[in-house]
Amino acid sequence: MRVFNFSAGPAVLPESVLQRAAAEMLDWHGSGMSVMEMSHRGKEFISIAAKAEADLRTLLNIPANYKVLFLQGGAIAENALIPMNLLGSKTSADYINTGEWSKKSIKEAKKYCTVNVAASAEDKGFTYVPPRESWKLNKDAAFVHVCTNETIGGVEYHWTPDTGDVPLVADVSSHILSRPIDVSKYGVIYGGAQKNIGPAGLTLVIVRDDLLDRALPITPSAFHWKEQAENDSMLNTPPTYGIYIAGLVFEWLLAEGGVAVVEQRNIAKAQLLYDYLDQSSFYSSPVNKQDRSRMNVPFKLKDEALDAAFLKGAEQNGMVQLKGHRSVGGMRASIYNAMPVEGVKTLVEYMKEFEKKNG
Ligand SMILES: *Cc1c(COP(=O)(O)O)cnc(C)c1O
Repeated sequence: MRVFNFSAGPAVLPESVLQRAAAEMLDWHGSGMSVMEMSHRGKEFISIAAKAEADLRTLLNIPANYKVLFLQGGAIAENALIPMNLLGSKTSADYINTGEWSKKSIKEAKKYCTVNVAASAEDKGFTYVPPRESWKLNKDAAFVHVCTNETIGGVEYHWTPDTGDVPLVADVSSHILSRPIDVSKYGVIYGGAQKNIGPAGLTLVIVRDDLLDRALPITPSAFHWKEQAENDSMLNTPPTYGIYIAGLVFEWLLAEGGVAVVEQRNIAKAQLLYDYLDQSSFYSSPVNKQDRSRMNVPFKLKDEALDAAFLKGAEQNGMVQLKGHRSVGGMRASIYNAMPVEGVKTLVEYMKEFEKKNG
């Protein structure tokens, strides 16, 4: 039996995608082999990768002057590769610190350049997005880095920062494809696939092509965006099976009606949970209302001594991975695209019951 999986990542995938992958496991489209067994240079796999890219371009309305790269390494590798690929002759970059993932990006970037933390939400325990007016940007920065959805703290940008001529770089790992995005406002968008796209091991980088001439000479070829762009992400062997599953997820999203339709569903799911949290005196959400994530919903019980019983009962009711991140404590429900609304309804029903018994 399948459970409702609230994991922050690797995370739930659409059941129909898993079924299709299972059906195609031994023999993909009459090729007589699994996608896992195919040469990345063969015509079958090249068609799979090309379709995945084309569908992603449709879903996010990616302008023609942006390259889409399917790489390995994950978002944490990109944290180092962003300064390597973007510094050019500059020596510093601006970072907005909204939580744990911002902090990791900053720590990594400091190995390669001077980091100016232009705004930080640390003063209030990372429960909000600092308003644009408060950012102290440096006009000589190579780029401005933001994490537009903090997976651990549950803080999301519901607006697009304007950084003028300085390219905006966004870690979108945990909310990509959950809502429409104006790609043209960004220099670079990147993320790991294992939250809202597919299996771990695939990393997506979407980069404006005029930024491809800024890589430091030390940049490894496998992670050199320009070299990868010139080789259709096949300078090294790409994560072929991950690209295939991502492609199935993109097809699923298109069949569901696209990102704008899925966004409405995500708004409804998040609202179900936040509305319940807000009217309850037993549970609470630490995040500023306007900055709450639709994808990752951290919440606390009135008495943390009840946490273990809450998690045990949830598991008995078919809901797993609700424990919050150790740095925040409490609970966290990750409700990505593939989490059905029934999952959120089941969770809220369970929370009501638990409150009644223990409140
Ligand atoms: C999960 C996550 C990462 C880390 O991705 P890895 O694949 O482990 O490198 C980075 N940023 C955000 C926002 C994430 O949610």
